[in-house]
Amino acid sequence: MNIKKLVKPNIRSLSAYEAKDIACAVKLDANESPYSAPAGQPARFSVQKNFQALNRYPDPEAKALRKIIAKEFSLRPENILHGNGSDELIYYLITTFGGPVLYPVPTFSMYGIISQALGEKKIEIPLDKEFDLDLEKILTAIKKYKPKLIFLTPPNNPTGNCFSSEKILKILPLFTVHCSLVVIDEAYHPFAGDKGFTPMLKDYKNLVILRTLSKIGLAGLRVGFLLADKDIVNEVNKVRLPFNLNSLSQTIASDALKDKALIKSNIRTIIKEREKLLDELSEINGITPYPSEANFILFKTENPAKIYKGLLKKGVLVRNLSGIVKECLRVTVGTPEENRIFLRALKKCLSI
Ligand SMILES: *Cc1c(COP(=O)(O)O)cnc(C)c1O
Repeated sequence: MNIKKLVKPNIRSLSAYEAKDIACAVKLDANESPYSAPAGQPARFSVQKNFQALNRYPDPEAKALRKIIAKEFSLRPENILHGNGSDELIYYLITTFGGPVLYPVPTFSMYGIISQALGEKKIEIPLDKEFDLDLEKILTAIKKYKPKLIFLTPPNNPTGNCFSSEKILKILPLFTVHCSLVVIDEAYHPFAGDKGFTPMLKDYKNLVILRTLSKIGLAGLRVGFLLADKDIVNEVNKVRLPFNLNSLSQTIASDALKDKALIKSNIRTIIKEREKLLDELSEINGITPYPSEANFILFKTENPAKIYKGLLKKGVLVRNLSGIVKECLRVTVGTPEENRIFLRALKKCLSI
C-alpha cells in the first residue's frame, strides 16, 4: 500500500521542517541565546517552589502567565493568547482566518509551511535590494489577491534588518479597509533599538503582534504569545488546543518574566557582541556581512558550501542559507568565547 497516495496533495508536496541534530562544539545555527535564563539551578528551584502536581492538567488559560505578560505590555489579560512557541500561534492564526496569506521573501519559513499544510494560498513578494519591503509590489498584490493575513517580521529572519516603519504604517490602514489582519512577528524585537509595534495596538484593531521567549534564553520551554484586540484573541482561542502550554513551561516562564534583570543584561551582552562581530566580519577579505538588529548576522561569501563544511569540521555550526539568499550563511551571536572561535575558524577556512 502506498501511503503517499492517501495523503492530501498539499501535504504530499510539503517537506518536513529540517532541524538536523548535527554534533558540534559551538552551536551558532538556530538563533538561540547562548545564555539560559534562568539557568538550571534557579529553574529547578522555581519548579519546586511552585510545584503543581503533574497528575493534573495544566491551567488551560495560563492565567498567571498571561497576567504577567499583560502587565509588562500595559495591556489586559484578554489581549494575550499563549502558544507552545509562536510557531503554534502562526498555525492558529492561519487556521482561524485562512488565506490568501501574504509575506515578503526571504523570511521565516513557517508562514509558508503552515499555509501550505492548511491548504491556504501563499503570496510571496520578494524584498528589495536593501532587504526592505517592496511597497509597490505589496500594494498591487493586496489589491489583486485581497489577502486575509500579512506577516511582517521586523527584525527579519534571515536578513537581520527591520523593515521601514513608514512602509508598514502605509500597509496597516490599507488592511483595515480590506478588513484583514497585519501580523507583526517581533521574535527578535528585544535586540532592536526601537519601540516596536505594541504601542500601535490601541490605534489598529487589525494589528496582531507575536512575541516569543525562544530567542532570549528559553527556547526549550516553548513559550510564545500573541498580543491583539480581545475580539481577535477570542476567535483564535477557539482553535487553540486546550492544554497547549504545559505546567512546567507556565511556571518557569512566569518566574523568568517576573524578574527580567538577568534576561535584559544577557540581551545587552548579545547586542554588544553582535556589533563587535559585525566589525570583525567586515574586516575579513571575502566576507560581506549585513547589518543586523537581531541576534544573528547574515553574511555573504563566494563559496558558502565550502565555508559551511570547513566551519563544521572545526566544530562550528552555522546555517547555510545559500538556497534562500544567494551565497549567504547566517551565524547566531554566541558568547564572546564562541564568537572568537567562530572568527578564527572562518579566517582559516578562507585562507585554505
Ligand atoms: C524563531 C522564530 C519564531 C519561532 O519562535 P518559537 O516561539 O520558538 O516558535 C517565530 N518567528 C520568527 C521570525 C523566528 O525567527
